[in-house]
Amino acid sequence: RSIPRMLAAQRPSISFEFFPPKDDASEAVLWEAIRRLERVRPDFVSVTYGAGGTTQDRTVRVTERIARETTLTPLAHLTCVNASVAQLRQVVGQYAAAGVRSILALRGDPPGNVRGPWVAHPEGLDHAEDLVRLVRGLGDFTVGVAAFPDVHPESPNLEHDVEVLVRKHAAGASFAVTQMVFDADSYLRLRDAVAARCDLPITPGLMPVTNFKQIARMSELMGTPLPPAVVSRLEAVADDPQAIREVGVQVATELAERMLAEGAPGLHFITMNRSTATLEVYGNLDLPVASVENAG
Ligand code: FAD
Repeated sequence: RSIPRMLAAQRPSISFEFFPPKDDASEAVLWEAIRRLERVRPDFVSVTYGAGGTTQDRTVRVTERIARETTLTPLAHLTCVNASVAQLRQVVGQYAAAGVRSILALRGDPPGNVRGPWVAHPEGLDHAEDLVRLVRGLGDFTVGVAAFPDVHPESPNLEHDVEVLVRKHAAGASFAVTQMVFDADSYLRLRDAVAARCDLPITPGLMPVTNFKQIARMSELMGTPLPPAVVSRLEAVADDPQAIREVGVQVATELAERMLAEGAPGLHFITMNRSTATLEVYGNLDLPVASVENAG
């Protein structure tokens, strides 16, 4: 399996996203999830790039280990935060040495939880588009980029986001993955607007909700509004953690089914380093073609 083969295939891709664990105990939990998710033979798995030195090292280490020790195809996230071009080249070189051939090129956000203005490193890059160009220039990499169905928080409007994706495609990106989506219509609006301008497949990011407080915080941080219909379904069972999980899996299943019916090129699951809820959603979907094709 490889990402170029995935892009050429006439079926929806399945992929899973992890984040770098902060200590050995959470790394063990992550590896348990990776091993369980490996069994459904996803097209790729990705590891987000941390904001600081230690977590960035963990991203690189986990991604390298996935490349060396599993049957999975890793997609390595990389950001421009606090990095000179020389440092970015070095990380790309490390990935290449470990056999990683695909990179998700991102700008990133200023470190810390408060959303401050973006300031590029004095010898670094200003936009994800520049990182796409850099990585493509460094070797035979397949490069993906981020997309924002609910409009990027710093962007004036959807048209600007569409323009940015067209520029990323022109810079050499072959696909995009979105921020977590809860509203299929906003995803479809962005996908169709980009499709009218260039051939950049955009895969929606889905997150099965297992914890209401966590999702409310993430949606605020990421600027992804939770649709009122989803909020009221979750609020109706707010006092029952097991019921929240069940509703979360149901909501994600319905969204995934709609995305597939609308012809989305794949489903990218944000797993929060756990496997159970994602596997439940996956199991609810009718995806025989993907399983058969990947089994070979
Ligand atoms: P850019 O494409 O550079 O866009 C940033 C802003 O600048 C946007 O408002 C855009 O409209 C504007 N812009 C872009 N290009 C231009 C231009 N040429 N001229 C004028 N304006 C422009 N963050 C992490 O730290 N680590 C991760 O691993 C990570 N993974 C992610 C994965 C996905 C799928 C997604 C959707 C996001 C991820 N993020 C991650 C978050 C991401 O880094 C932030 O959302 C960041 O604010 C935007 O990144 P970008 O790559 O879209 O940046």
